[in-house]
Amino acid sequence: MSRITLESLTKAYGDEVAVDGIDLTIRDGEILGIVGPSGCGKTTTLRTIAGFETPSDGRVLFDGVDVTHVPPEERNVGLVFQSYALFDTMTVRENVAFGPKMQGVPKAERRERADELLAMLDIAELADRDPTTLSGGQQQRVGLARALAIEPRVLLLDEPMTGLDAELKTRLREEVGDLLADLEVTALYVTHDQEEAMAMCDRIAVLAEGTVEQVGTPAEIYRRPANTFVANFVGSSTLLEGTATNGHVDLGFAQLPVTARTDGDVTVAVRPEAFEVGSGPIHAEVADATYLGDRTHLSATLPDETTVTLRADGIDDYRAGDSLALSIDEDRVHVLESG
Ligand code: ATP
Repeated sequence: MSRITLESLTKAYGDEVAVDGIDLTIRDGEILGIVGPSGCGKTTTLRTIAGFETPSDGRVLFDGVDVTHVPPEERNVGLVFQSYALFDTMTVRENVAFGPKMQGVPKAERRERADELLAMLDIAELADRDPTTLSGGQQQRVGLARALAIEPRVLLLDEPMTGLDAELKTRLREEVGDLLADLEVTALYVTHDQEEAMAMCDRIAVLAEGTVEQVGTPAEIYRRPANTFVANFVGSSTLLEGTATNGHVDLGFAQLPVTARTDGDVTVAVRPEAFEVGSGPIHAEVADATYLGDRTHLSATLPDETTVTLRADGIDDYRAGDSLALSIDEDRVHVLESG
């Protein structure tokens, strides 16, 4: 088990600042997700923890010890990438046992460790196979077994599920999440897929342009986004401008009994599921409807021309131009601090 701390971590490539003063702790045994749009510095952060990049400024600590200038091979870090890069001249078992071999683990022991991990990942029967004959999902599991075989202090996963089909992704999410929790591995999970991060991670750090916008549990990030960027990056939100006074926010077309930190102009983030469709004091007109079986995604226009995104059950049919009566569940809205 290990605790990883990033202190004012900065990495610039010439004028391009990829990581801009990140302070972040990955706690002992937790899976911390890093999400953010393309180019926000996710991979650079991960590579700096692995030791492949030297920071321009700031420090990386493992259990309080400064490892900023320790070479990658001395950090005992396990890596899982999208491109599995398995050795095609070795069997699956030999691939998994390769790291321990380099660490000087005796043959019988490393073979036993490899077989144990392959069994845990439910691919024991693949041990003698040539990795080039495996499916993407099987290769992904072998890649994970190989990374875990060195008993790493920290496991770094960079978009490991990219390229897998949706059904396999969902299954692996559960299995891999459970396995990492059982092994109490400290892990950093980089993904651009916020749903994957919500499903797999204990906490999530949302990055934008090299800085951390918010760190919290999936529920904290979803229910109480720190700002408009987070409110829109993790799930979707309709942002409504309002005026806060005495524990109420006046949206013009509706009053919400929600508290804001200060009185005055505020921005209220409303999740699609916070709109109740069918009855209520708010009148809207359907602009677009997408039927998805168990639900219908709607975008609708309020009298003041604001567009809201909402969800209806899949029972009724909706067409552009239909009138809607709406109410807002005040427990599912969040007043943003930025106002
Ligand atoms: P993606 O989701 O697209 O993989 P990311 O969040 O992982 O993106 P990084 O790969 O960390 O982003 O890149 C952050 C920024 O740093 C980008 O603007 C990128 O162009 C730049 N960058 C990364 N590596 C280098 C490099 N070796 N030389 C120059 N610029 C780089």
